[in-house]
Amino acid sequence: MSASRDDILQELGLWPRWQRRDAADSSGAGASPAADVEPAALRSAGDPPANEPLMQGVHDRGYLPHLKDEGGNYFVTFRLADSLPAAVLKNLEAVPEKQKSRKVEEYLDAGHGECLLGRPEMAAMMKQTLLKFDGERYHLHAWIIMPNHVHLLIEPAAGQSLSEVLQGIKSVSAREGNKLLKREGEFWQKESYDHLIRDDADRARCVEYIVQNPVKAGLAKNAGEYLYSSAFQQAVDAGESPALQKPAPQKQIAKAAAVTQPLSLDARAADIAGMEWPALKQCVTDCCACPLHKGRHKTVFGVGDEAANWMFVGEGPGAEEDIKGEPFVGQAGKLLDNMLAAIKLKRGENVYIANVVKCRPPNNRNPEPLEVEQCEPVLHRQIELIRPKLIIALGKVAAVNLLKREASVASMRGKVHEYRGTPMIVTYHPAYLLRSLPEKAKAWEDLCFAVETMRGLQSGEAAPT
Ligand code: SF4
Repeated sequence: MSASRDDILQELGLWPRWQRRDAADSSGAGASPAADVEPAALRSAGDPPANEPLMQGVHDRGYLPHLKDEGGNYFVTFRLADSLPAAVLKNLEAVPEKQKSRKVEEYLDAGHGECLLGRPEMAAMMKQTLLKFDGERYHLHAWIIMPNHVHLLIEPAAGQSLSEVLQGIKSVSAREGNKLLKREGEFWQKESYDHLIRDDADRARCVEYIVQNPVKAGLAKNAGEYLYSSAFQQAVDAGESPALQKPAPQKQIAKAAAVTQPLSLDARAADIAGMEWPALKQCVTDCCACPLHKGRHKTVFGVGDEAANWMFVGEGPGAEEDIKGEPFVGQAGKLLDNMLAAIKLKRGENVYIANVVKCRPPNNRNPEPLEVEQCEPVLHRQIELIRPKLIIALGKVAAVNLLKREASVASMRGKVHEYRGTPMIVTYHPAYLLRSLPEKAKAWEDLCFAVETMRGLQSGEAAPT
């Protein structure tokens, strides 16, 4: 029979740590998880005294790695460099230890400092960093990215120390964050704070604390609505759409008035609607808003003239597009290029090409409604920025998702539709034409109709219907 975790801990002299702890401190219930006391025997050089709850389990890159239980779960907090000035901590010196952690959390939740993680592109970067090695170097059981700090319930993988794991997360996110901000300098406070989970009740309390943090801070009405959280991500990964079911109003963070935290699909759309090209492209590169992010190699943003009169929209990337990060490559792409050439157009010159979803659906299936809903704000913004005179929807999936009604391509051809005020014509998808050669003649008719329509639009005449 294999030894239980408790047996192993006992053998290592680490058990029963929570029984020892309970004897020393019975203040856990109802307090911030960070307010628990870690036994002095488990502290490494440089750790503060065991009777200082706020600073328990402090990690500092200058110290040796901590002695930590193999397979342990930790509640971890790390904070942006400007989130908690030294002067504030000094003021808290007079506060009784058991209240100090709660005071610190309240201070952080009030949104002090620049709250850089409240910016969508920064929060997306942080989320991508956290998820990158989840399941490999560590297991994230719960996480939340607050505007000026991060909480995790994390379990380092075998052979990984908590110190190494945290240092990796913080150094990568600091580098990427500074790159996004185009600046250098200290990003995180040097120390991180951790608390070893001691039993199931303790774990449940910490998870609840993490999940409810945005609600407590007034950033969401319900925990699952907060975009940059494990609660939201789990719902999305399960194919649910929590934000759509429970839209929440966007709320400004108290001090950082210019910094807002997107809470729902509506808020995501509002954020994306204000982005210029660089932020929009970065937002897609970092996007994990729907399950398609899990299988992609590259996001496929779109390509072409950003002031084009013509915009061609397909459904989603295929295998080659996923590898290359460009829409309509391979055989279907060549056919599209030939179609463009037939009407004297060229990819990249007065033409922009994009898809409804920016990540490849597995096995080239059609994108699901949730995936389209999450990705659509990006396409909206692309169209707003390009302001094409005419959109050509390539294939049924693109046309149906843009027009929001079920219909066949045959029934939609030969008419000028409208997508958010922009004239739109529907034709067959090049991949379909490769399989159905007789339909090429119809596609040629559609292109001629599109040229005629464009001519009318450019000369100010009413578009043919
Ligand atoms: S398909 Fe769109 S919404 Fe989904 S992860 Fe990719 S970029 Fe984000």
